[in-house]
Amino acid sequence: MKREYVIKPVIEHHYPTIQYGKGIYLYDEQGQTYIDGCSGAVTAGLGHGVQDIIDAMIEQANKVSFVYRSQFTSEPTEKLAEKLCELAPGNDYWTFFVNSGSEATETAMKIAIQHWQEKGRPGKNKVISRRMSYHGITLGALSMSGHVLRRRRFIPLLEDFPVVMPPYCYRCPLGKTAGNCQLACADDLATAIKRIGAEHIAAFIAEPIIGAAGGAIVPPEGYYKKIKAICELYDILFIADEVMTGIARTGAMFGMEHYEVEPDLMALGKGMSAGYTPMAATLVKDHVMEPIRQGTKSIMSGHTYSANPQSAAVSLAVLTYIEKHQLVRAAESKGVYLLNLLRQLAQQIEIIGDVRGKGLLLAIEFVANRTDKSPFPAALSVTSRIIENAFQKGLLVYPAAGAIDGEGDAIIVAPPLIISEEEIDQLVRILAESIREVMAEISP
Ligand code: PLP
Repeated sequence: MKREYVIKPVIEHHYPTIQYGKGIYLYDEQGQTYIDGCSGAVTAGLGHGVQDIIDAMIEQANKVSFVYRSQFTSEPTEKLAEKLCELAPGNDYWTFFVNSGSEATETAMKIAIQHWQEKGRPGKNKVISRRMSYHGITLGALSMSGHVLRRRRFIPLLEDFPVVMPPYCYRCPLGKTAGNCQLACADDLATAIKRIGAEHIAAFIAEPIIGAAGGAIVPPEGYYKKIKAICELYDILFIADEVMTGIARTGAMFGMEHYEVEPDLMALGKGMSAGYTPMAATLVKDHVMEPIRQGTKSIMSGHTYSANPQSAAVSLAVLTYIEKHQLVRAAESKGVYLLNLLRQLAQQIEIIGDVRGKGLLLAIEFVANRTDKSPFPAALSVTSRIIENAFQKGLLVYPAAGAIDGEGDAIIVAPPLIISEEEIDQLVRILAESIREVMAEISP
């Protein structure tokens, strides 16, 4: 066998070589076609090979691709930040550009801490997050993540940040019944703040809809309004991690719009450049920037490629494309269509415990027993089997396994926002076949 040079996610696993992509389809060099049912890692929201984006990329490359942010600004970066401010709730955000979702959440944490330092409250330097959350893989971002599997190996290096209960109504971690719980999971934040002391806490971070750490978990009515009120009461900044939910994915430009809450900081990534170039950002409300503007006037963060004009031009073209083709509306209506089909599947396939999500960020949770919702034993690898089976049939879906403190099985279905109803039908047909085949394999 030929020697390998690239360290892949699983060493010595065979990964097909991709040749090209068009729309929702990817084609490998063996001639296999794949439906991109999860936009890669919930990223390629416009689908593949969109000419408008390629043109914008070439146009900018013909001018200048890179300048260092400490030496120059550029027209695309200025225009992109202005556009983000115009689109974001409240229209009063500043933008700090980075290159990945992990950098965006970690930068949000650092800016929150700096905000309190500039206000003469340096003791406020912890961030509260939730169990079942994922905010990124760098050590700061991982410190804020309640993702058991991804943390495990690095525990000694991580900050011991507090975590609170997630709004996971299908399987309430506080043992409550949905609709009759007085939002006890939101109260858990207030309890944690009182226990630790607000004087030690800079911010609370949450994904508007929980992604990789549980699978499109939508909070109950009123949850974020209560969370924001608690944060305001105790002088704690609210960071919305919109890396997965942001930029049209859930049928709103930002996930938090569904809950009519304006976060103090937002982290963006993935869909912001729809996979055409690495690009991410931390959005910061004017009132959070104010003491920094008045004080040291500089944020101690940033990366070599931060705010490079090449990625900014691409991201600007992506936002323009989303508006021109009304993809926020498309995500909403196609999401309803797909959700209904998945709910119909749930009536026919008994290992489907829950179907949930918003817009085109949807998920299916699998259970061994629908009545008591007991999960499959981890050793059965139900999620991996379904993903592999679908892959062999030419359909890509994304894992959200390990939802219940390292256990549990779920997949995310999040196709490009340009998907047609016929293509959704095709996606669901293949997925149903894969789930049925795996169910037959694991049945005693
Ligand atoms: N935050 C959320 C909600 C994510 O889903 C992810 C990635 O899946 C990240 C942060 C980290 O982003 P990246 O992989 O670009 O570093």
